[in-house]
Amino acid sequence: MFVPGVEIPHLCFQCEDYPCVNACPTGALSINDKTGAVNIDVSKCSACGLCVNVCPGKVPHMHPEKNHIVLCDLCDGNPKCVETCREGKWNTLKITFRSERVSYKVSAKTPKKLTIETARKILGEEIAKEVLSQ
Ligand code: SF4
Ligand code: SF4
Ligand code: SF4
Repeated sequence: MFVPGVEIPHLCFQCEDYPCVNACPTGALSINDKTGAVNIDVSKCSACGLCVNVCPGKVPHMHPEKNHIVLCDLCDGNPKCVETCREGKWNTLKITFRSERVSYKVSAKTPKKLTIETARKILGEEIAKEVLSQ
């Protein structure tokens, strides 16, 4: 945790040009026609890490025990995280629909950058600066 109390999901933003899919040398990654999510065929993944390197947010993660990456697949259009968030009455996550006029790639950021930006919004610039300097 980069900032105590500030922990946010670090997920794929489905970049419009899908650099991860284009960089994969084995064809393990593909774009889901229905959801726009990046799907992974783990049997083809060599764990080379090229998709992680090209991702602006370093979103794909190596599986802690197996030899392949892990990536959010939007639960095939029925996101379980959104369901759980709603059931828990937090209502923080919601399903939105893609617009061709928006660049999603600019929102793909590393966990550190996302956390710092969120801390600034929640705590305010001055307090965030103080917390971050500790
Ligand atoms: S880690 Fe797997 S999915 Fe990523 S580029 Fe390499 S082979 Fe493709
Ligand atoms: S955010 Fe990363 S993993 Fe998601 S589409 Fe973009 S490059 Fe691929
Ligand atoms: S629950 Fe499904 S949609 Fe939510 S982060 Fe995990 S894989 Fe993605």
